[in-house]
Amino acid sequence: MKKVLLFLIDSMMPEVLERCVDKKKAPAFQFLMERGQYMAECTTVFPTMTASIDCSLITGVYPDQHKVPGLIWYDSTSKKIINYINGAIPIAKIGFEQCAHNVLFDLNELHLSKEVKTIHEVLEEHGLTSGSINVIAHRGHKRHKASIPFMLNAATGFRFKQKVSGPTILSLGTLVKPGIFRPITWNWSHTMPSAYGVNDAYAIDVLIEVLRSGKQPDFTLTYMPDNDHKLHRTPEKAEEHLAAVDEQLCRLLDSFSSWEQAIEKNVIILISDHGQTIVGQSDEHNIDLEQLLADFHIHRLSRGVSPSDEVVICNNERMAYLYPIADGSLSSVVEAAAVDERLDIIAWKEAEWIVVRKGGTDQEVRFRKGGVLHDCYGVAWTIQGFQSVLDLRIDQHGVVSFHDYPDALNRLFGALFAQPDPVVVVTAAPGYELLSESSPTHLGGGSHGSLHRQDSLIPLVIAGTNRKFTQPARLVDVKSFILQELAVPSVSG
Ligand SMILES: [Zn+2]
Repeated sequence: MKKVLLFLIDSMMPEVLERCVDKKKAPAFQFLMERGQYMAECTTVFPTMTASIDCSLITGVYPDQHKVPGLIWYDSTSKKIINYINGAIPIAKIGFEQCAHNVLFDLNELHLSKEVKTIHEVLEEHGLTSGSINVIAHRGHKRHKASIPFMLNAATGFRFKQKVSGPTILSLGTLVKPGIFRPITWNWSHTMPSAYGVNDAYAIDVLIEVLRSGKQPDFTLTYMPDNDHKLHRTPEKAEEHLAAVDEQLCRLLDSFSSWEQAIEKNVIILISDHGQTIVGQSDEHNIDLEQLLADFHIHRLSRGVSPSDEVVICNNERMAYLYPIADGSLSSVVEAAAVDERLDIIAWKEAEWIVVRKGGTDQEVRFRKGGVLHDCYGVAWTIQGFQSVLDLRIDQHGVVSFHDYPDALNRLFGALFAQPDPVVVVTAAPGYELLSESSPTHLGGGSHGSLHRQDSLIPLVIAGTNRKFTQPARLVDVKSFILQELAVPSVSG
């Protein structure tokens, strides 16, 4: 049986990938695409942010089941903002120690639901071995010691005592290193400016060492973040950024006796987590949420949530969760936000229903699970109101299809039902980004988070197998594809 190598390439977009291949800038991508299946329109999870997507990739379900709502969200039980490390200033305000703890420990051990199983857990329960390199969602049955770099310890006084769980092979930059092979020669990719090894070069170094050790797990997931960081700053150089990812993949393929041998021994799968949308240059392209909600008492990041606070804003770039924590304030938060036509959609729950309004209008569509309509994934729905709000198409057989908002119903359901609390989801229209206290902004750069197809459609490349991927392709179906490839019965969750 072949082994499986899955690469999660942050912010890889189909049109950029195709341009790189056409211009002969991406030999590794080209090789794998020519020898396998290429899907240009695979749909990812909403919000289109790392963390909730990583959790969906390894569990095969949307956030309503795995319970990690986004990169940044509000936990009403602990009354704390959960931030898996996004934005230097918000992290400083919330506290580095809390954020580091959130990402190193809480995500996997507390937030990610125990009701669902990660691919690592399923594989190792079936006697196979699994590996995870630099992925923040990595829960598994083994325990690993994390060592915080001296400089980080010294600067912050942060001490991390707990062990983190993961599959047999777990690598998290220089914080958690697999014990099975010789130390990787020190270089700049291990330093703070390179995120302590959470970068493409380091990840590929580790993977090559794992392959050479003779202990390659049956499945290994490797995360490559560099493309995302660069695209946020210089989206006009998108091809250059993806070509740099290709160079790293070439280095991996070169570590085999031939590229052909790489796919004789392995099924190689390349997927992205989300796309990016270019944000306009001028200030009006930042939608100031605090200004929109000026009539409410908004929680400040630097202190805990207090009884006088009425709204907690959790900003996920082109998407935000607005938590109306004062009793009965949901509808007034909706009305305050909905006046801005730069907001694409405003969505909230009403019992089992989800209501979605188009920004700057009073047009609404409502939907709930169950009913006579079916989407192309086989889920039954009842839909009322303006279908145009979500660009839904319903044919004469009652089949719902999507265009501007891929898999819109399941994905909105996934985000809104990730938590029992009242919450309002807002997204920015194409070209815009959301602004709130100290949030990272990208005027003239790239950003993501929304439900729109630009942020939501990702490429999927599969080489080294003849097994066909389920159509229409979705990121949540990758787990069961890999389990089938490794002859493990696919259980839901
Ligand atoms: Zn990003």
